[in-house]
Amino acid sequence: MSSHIAAEAARRRTFAVISHPDAGKSTITEALALYGRAISSAGAVHGKGDRKGVVSDWMSMEQDRGISITSAALQFEYRDCVVNLLDTPGHADFSEDTYRVLTAVDAAVMLLDAAKGLEPQTLKLFEVCRARRIPVITFINKWDRPAKDALELIEEIETRIGIKPTPVTWPVGVGGEFRGVIERVGFGEESGGRRATGPQVPGMVRYERSPGGQQLATAEFLDEAAAMAQFGPDYERAQEESELLSEVEADFDPKTFESGQTTPTLFGAALVHFGVGQLLDLLVDIAPSPFSREDAKGSPRDLEDGFSGFVFKSQANMNASHRDQLAFIRVCSGHFERGMQVTQAQGKRTMSTKYAQTLFGSARDTVDEAWPGDIVGLVNATGLSVGDTIYAGKAVEYPPLPAFAPEHFGALQMHDTSKAKRFRRGIAQLDAEGVVQVLYSERRGEATPVLAAVGPLQFEVTVARLQAEFDVPATINNLPFKLARLTDAEGAQRLRTAPGVEVFTRPRDGAHLVALPNKYRIQTIVNDYPGLVLEPLLAGG
Ligand code: GDP
Repeated sequence: MSSHIAAEAARRRTFAVISHPDAGKSTITEALALYGRAISSAGAVHGKGDRKGVVSDWMSMEQDRGISITSAALQFEYRDCVVNLLDTPGHADFSEDTYRVLTAVDAAVMLLDAAKGLEPQTLKLFEVCRARRIPVITFINKWDRPAKDALELIEEIETRIGIKPTPVTWPVGVGGEFRGVIERVGFGEESGGRRATGPQVPGMVRYERSPGGQQLATAEFLDEAAAMAQFGPDYERAQEESELLSEVEADFDPKTFESGQTTPTLFGAALVHFGVGQLLDLLVDIAPSPFSREDAKGSPRDLEDGFSGFVFKSQANMNASHRDQLAFIRVCSGHFERGMQVTQAQGKRTMSTKYAQTLFGSARDTVDEAWPGDIVGLVNATGLSVGDTIYAGKAVEYPPLPAFAPEHFGALQMHDTSKAKRFRRGIAQLDAEGVVQVLYSERRGEATPVLAAVGPLQFEVTVARLQAEFDVPATINNLPFKLARLTDAEGAQRLRTAPGVEVFTRPRDGAHLVALPNKYRIQTIVNDYPGLVLEPLLAGG
């Protein structure tokens, strides 16, 4: 069994596509799923206008706004690999959710809009990947349309993010004059697939769109003579630029890619699937397979040490016709078999895994077994919170998931005191899912929790779900705080009566948080309370 586990892990690739909204994340997800042989998606990749399946009440919010709030995983086979693609919400207000998904992947694909280059959300996400040392492949999308200059884009990424792009393809012609790409590494045919790490083959992959532009682009390989004959000046220019890249050491390098210092970069057009095959080949060839994860004490859990995983997402009532709770587990080690008994590290409870599923969008399949890198949804896993570890056999506990620095605070007011019990249950549920951070202050008491969020839409989701799922009407009164710092019990005591700030406890982890209106107040607090513990929270990593 052991070597079987290692072999199954070695052929897993688990990654997420991340981008600023509108860069083409839904489009490329769909293209990847079509390219690969989807084995457990049941065709439910959610495109925007055409959303399939049953959605729960509050999810109508995302339909109304055309945003994607929920995220799950899609699994497909490509070449001899099993690819797990984790979905992330597009809207910046749910970036906390995206950050949590990033704890469950081994690599990320960053999508840029060729005409826009780096956008605010791109910068934040790159930052998170760099902080967490997640290897990133960059896909510069929409190259079929007028775009920024390729060299400029490369320079922009390097100077603004500090990760050096190492283009593995390079565009021939730009904008409406896009001719194709040269492959700066070999994507040669080998064992039924293509290897992205071989020597470069002279020539180019021609981009051609069918008349009318409705269908997918063809990607035909032209040898050097054919490329010269058809696109002489453009091809030569691309070659010159490619040589220039080699001179500045922007060639693919596996070591610096894996350590997150360089990002192999592709140019393509997801809409017509151009470059998508190259992206998949690259993922299969160079993205890391699941490796031994460190537990909370810093010692690695061997892949073959028996089943273990952690909850990176938990969601109740995703489907109006089911009304249940799903916990999404990233398998870290061992062999998962449906029905096995597992232990929750945090509460030392045991539970059955009879109802294990895969899920993407609203389609569900039963999953009978899973290997490191896979994502399993456990149905009715009540009591499992985001960040919890489950295992079978040798005990393990993975580090808690990072809680992100909130930028919005609001007091949650319930109006019908006869529903106090349900209100508490609802709040506990949403807190366990990580929908918002729930805080309490001595000043306000238990009846008025304060919610803290990265984006205000998290508040709207909370209120909508309290109403829809717990029948508790509530409102939020915004509080005048914009940031938070961590302090200790003594600091919390000292700041109890400090003007302009408020001290909270976070039951989730027992932390003491100080909410502040602006960063100047931090300085005055530091001056007024010598020796006070005041530490920044994680801002995206
Ligand atoms: P998301 O918000 O990142 O999920 O972006 P979508 O996948 O919804 O794409 C946003 C818009 O860009 C849609 O109108 C897509 O059809 C369009 N789009 C995506 N990829 C391409 C591409 O390669 N070329 C062109 N021209 N348009 C694209």
